[in-house]
Amino acid sequence: MNPETRNCQNCKNEFVIEPEDRVFYQKFGVCEPKMCPLCRAQRRLAFRNERVFYKRACDKCKREIVSMYSPNKPYPVWCYECWFKDDWDATEYGAEYDPTRPFLEQVNDIYKKVPKVALIYVRSVNSEYVNISADNKNCYMLVESSNNEGCIHSYWVQQCRDSVDLSYSHQTELAYDSDDCYNSYRLLYSKGCHDSRDSYFLYDCTGCSDCIGCVNLRNKQYYVFNERLDKESYERFLAKAGLDTASGVEALRKKFADFIANQPRKYAEIVNAPGSSGNYIYDAKNCRKCFHSYDAEDCAYGEHVWRNAKDCVDVSTAGRNAQTIYNSINTGIDVANHICCVQGWSSTFLEYSFNCFNSNHSLGCAGLRKKDYCILNKQYSPEEYDDLRRKIIEEMKAAGEYGEFFSSQFSPFGYNETVAQEQFPLDATGAERLGFGWENYPRGTYGRETVKWEAVPESIRDFHSQDITQNIFACTACNKNYLVIPTEFQFYKKLDIPLPRLCPDCRHARRMIARGPSRLWSRACMCDGSTSSPQASQHGHQDRCRNEFETPYAPNRTEIVYCESCYNSEIA
Ligand SMILES: [Zn+2]
Ligand SMILES: [Zn+2]
Ligand SMILES: [Zn+2]
Ligand SMILES: [Zn+2]
Ligand SMILES: [Zn+2]
Repeated sequence: MNPETRNCQNCKNEFVIEPEDRVFYQKFGVCEPKMCPLCRAQRRLAFRNERVFYKRACDKCKREIVSMYSPNKPYPVWCYECWFKDDWDATEYGAEYDPTRPFLEQVNDIYKKVPKVALIYVRSVNSEYVNISADNKNCYMLVESSNNEGCIHSYWVQQCRDSVDLSYSHQTELAYDSDDCYNSYRLLYSKGCHDSRDSYFLYDCTGCSDCIGCVNLRNKQYYVFNERLDKESYERFLAKAGLDTASGVEALRKKFADFIANQPRKYAEIVNAPGSSGNYIYDAKNCRKCFHSYDAEDCAYGEHVWRNAKDCVDVSTAGRNAQTIYNSINTGIDVANHICCVQGWSSTFLEYSFNCFNSNHSLGCAGLRKKDYCILNKQYSPEEYDDLRRKIIEEMKAAGEYGEFFSSQFSPFGYNETVAQEQFPLDATGAERLGFGWENYPRGTYGRETVKWEAVPESIRDFHSQDITQNIFACTACNKNYLVIPTEFQFYKKLDIPLPRLCPDCRHARRMIARGPSRLWSRACMCDGSTSSPQASQHGHQDRCRNEFETPYAPNRTEIVYCESCYNSEIA
């Protein structure tokens, strides 16, 4: 089998169906995709609103709740307690299959009728504004995260404690404004760090402590901008940097950005992942074009493929024991054999279904809990189910659509509420052209600030807790109003961090942009052999390095991007 180049029916760009892809398509029994991997990811992500929250009433108990569905949405939204109660059952909304109408249209009819759960926060204790998360305690504004305590404004963190503005991190404590950190303690403004502590502005460092503004270091202490200082000089530098003030932090942020621009970086964050391509991959095998992936094997075109995922293709989140999952979003906790599903948890043999939990052998269903053998939310005997399912799948295959995700109009969200907008930004017209909706319902307030930044002390040391609860701030970038909650303020006080002058959304966006896009370009190593570092002799090439790779750094990026071997020769 040879690779075959096709044109995406959506963006018209060429894409390649690799022989390895075909093996998967045959295994899943699906038709080959008509859209390129990026358009496929965009379509799926437009079905997930992670962090745009609204206050609204629960349509069942009428309580005021926080919800990922704006109050103007035309379908019933229930609070978590009402939705997960055993006094109702989604098969009440079941319908007979009508062979004269397209099947997916009928799925959409069911999906619109069945109540939706406002936010998904399984087993959470004292945690507000938490979504698509489980097992968290005392958290606030937390998304896609499990087993954390005391985390605020954080995203994709696991087993972390007492951190603010943290993303994609694991087993990390007292971190602030950091991304991609593992087993670390008291790291601020850092990225790509492992086993490090008590440091500010680190990039790609491991085993470091008491360092400021360093890149590519291993097992170092008292380094500032990659230079060794003695303990007293280090402490003098830290005291003079004024990191308790907003201007001190911004000055160092700028200096670090200038410093890092001249340091080589690895073509992608891929560690211990043979046969893998993409970015942010650890301890994986044969994960092709995957982004944010760990403890995964034989996956492709995936984002957030993690914690024992195998044979997951075209997935946006598949983990906690996920096997044989195709073209699905938010699939996790002991799941297998899903095709084109949205939020299928602890379920097997699920196809074209939305929000189903602990259910098996079901097709075209929404909101099922502990139900098997359902089609369009109507329950059948296993034999009846097999017959009807076969008939429907045959028709879908004949139409070439079995394996294609739901059409864009089926998304319950406006495009601008979803994570697709972060990765594939569009304006309302662009979204409409692709068939996505757009939500104009207001988010947040503007102009209600009670204090101007000129009147706010530069240093956190001059700010008092009684000021906090009374104040509404305005973001210096987007003008949106925001609050600093008391536990967040205590955190800033404890770590001597100035009050953030950007709103939580702008802070999140800054970290996400710094992660780079979830796409790849073919490029060559930029090492020309003229490196002046002491390690130059270890590169093993005289003039330009000939290694090539796939990298998330687009060709027009200015970063110095090295192949793995040149990068390894440069780390100190
Ligand atoms: Zn495309
Ligand atoms: Zn309710
Ligand atoms: Zn803002
Ligand atoms: Zn190289
Ligand atoms: Zn080199």
